[in-house]
Amino acid sequence: MKLLVHWSKRNAKMRAHTATHLLHFALDKLLWSTKQAWSLVDNDYLRFDFEAKNPLEENELLLIESQINDRIRCWSVVSITQTSLEEAKKMWAKAFFEDTYGEEVRVVSIECTSDNSLDLASKELCWWIHVQDISHIGAFKIVQQTAVASGIRRIEAVTWTSVTEQAQKSDRRLADISSRLDCQPKQLENKLEKILKEYGHLQSDHALLQWKLICTHLDEFHNECDLPSAWSARWKGCIINVSWSSLEDHTFKEVIHHAKARWSDRNWIIYSDEGNFAIYTWTWDLSAKQFARDQGLKWWWSDQFVQWKDEKIKEIV
Ligand SMILES: [Zn+2]
Repeated sequence: MKLLVHWSKRNAKMRAHTATHLLHFALDKLLWSTKQAWSLVDNDYLRFDFEAKNPLEENELLLIESQINDRIRCWSVVSITQTSLEEAKKMWAKAFFEDTYGEEVRVVSIECTSDNSLDLASKELCWWIHVQDISHIGAFKIVQQTAVASGIRRIEAVTWTSVTEQAQKSDRRLADISSRLDCQPKQLENKLEKILKEYGHLQSDHALLQWKLICTHLDEFHNECDLPSAWSARWKGCIINVSWSSLEDHTFKEVIHHAKARWSDRNWIIYSDEGNFAIYTWTWDLSAKQFARDQGLKWWWSDQFVQWKDEKIKEIV
């Protein structure tokens, strides 16, 4: 049997792996100390999970990225020493001491020469494959940061030509968005500002129109309220479904506020299909609170007025 090594894939994994060491070191420096939770190395792609309470800020990610790229650009050698676990501990090599190591371990250290000084870029116990010089990594780019579990963050990054591919992909997306917005990529910020401003105006216009529509509708209903349905007669008041206006929760509250001001002299129930409801009574022989309690609605406030969200209201009316 003949075993063949796929050299280009092996090299791609070596670049991503050494970059993982650099990332771990940079994170340790930034967060004082962090614990690796999991990591995955693939062809010029790496995924690194680590313990951190909060997500890293955008500027922290940029800082890590440039620190690693600075190191990639400097003259540096990845040196590998085989030694005893005791000696490795004395060398302050990063290890996962809850892991079981044999008597002999392998210390992978990366040192960079910059401005005539030697700068440590990483020192870890590791048996895996690495590039000989970190400049072979070519380039490093963080693609995204996500949360994978409580207190565990994930950084995904790429190396070598995948960095260029990533940049080209971003450029294509920007070009596509720009053409859809009918502007040049350079003008995107201005265009976005303009659109957001217009959207803000439209939103307030829309809210005002919706408000006026609701008032008109309620006023019309007010006139018809003396012709109650059979259930309304039993309830001794109006029942209004305002779902036609697809109200949001906060708008619903405004409608109720409006209704309370206009219809303080009658009993009413206003509800929406989403389950928002308000019950108001003004006659001494009818209590909104008692009514809600009798109907099994979860909440009640004052004797005369009840307002909450409970889909059960639709079955009641
Ligand atoms: Zn390693």
